[in-house]
Amino acid sequence: MASAKEIIQKARKDSRTVLTEMESKDLLRSLGIPTTQMMLATSKEEAVALSKKVGYPCVLKVSSPDISHKSDAGGVKVGLADADAVAAAWEAIMASCKAYNPAAVIEGVTVQDMAKPGLEVIIGMSTDPQFGPVLMFGLGGVWVEVLKDVSFKLAPLTKTDAAKAVREIKAVKLLDGFRGSEPVDKAALEDILMRLSDFVTKTPEVKEMDLNPIFAYSKGAMAVDARVILGE
Ligand code: ADP
Ligand code: MG
Repeated sequence: MASAKEIIQKARKDSRTVLTEMESKDLLRSLGIPTTQMMLATSKEEAVALSKKVGYPCVLKVSSPDISHKSDAGGVKVGLADADAVAAAWEAIMASCKAYNPAAVIEGVTVQDMAKPGLEVIIGMSTDPQFGPVLMFGLGGVWVEVLKDVSFKLAPLTKTDAAKAVREIKAVKLLDGFRGSEPVDKAALEDILMRLSDFVTKTPEVKEMDLNPIFAYSKGAMAVDARVILGE
């Protein structure tokens, strides 16, 4: 497994400040943060072959340094049930991403296992010019835009800060189990916050991180999408 340092060095060598989803998730796993498993396919045939390894249902997502909002480009297909669905998804992703950005360099697609549904939350890190790295926790999906229900903590976080970040959002009831749903594993979310805090504190060249969404479960949590941005 590549270290965070090696992953960052590779992006620097290519003069990129935005890490791909695959690089970002490799970096997260090197920090001990769970993510979906993924492999890069550079042809339709390879995508089909990899999907047989990953198993069904699976997910295909465009991999391009020029497309960071993949759904906007029609670059995400979930719930693919068999090899035919994967081949069709490859065609559909290529057609819509080329139409969306004709100049985009498209490496191929990542073939991922389909994460079981969970409560969607987000964890982010941004750099304040005065205070340095700041961690953010909130509900994911449409809620983050509609309700702006997020909490912020300055890094480095203490364990108490992480526990507060998770509990300070207005919709904390959703985490506690709502209308019969099981409570989500808050300790798993606090653990992700702490690992990111440790990492960004000792890696100032990372300017921004976006784990959106994380699926939170009654046991554990998993990053389903990730983006890491380096400073110039
Ligand atoms: P975007 O670049 O548009 O943010 P995402 O990778 O977040 O793309 O994918 C869009 C949505 O598709 C996610 O919010 C999630 O709901 C769903 N999704 C993406 N990847 C997976 C996966 N591996 N398993 C299950 N759902 C997924
Ligand atoms: Mg996303």
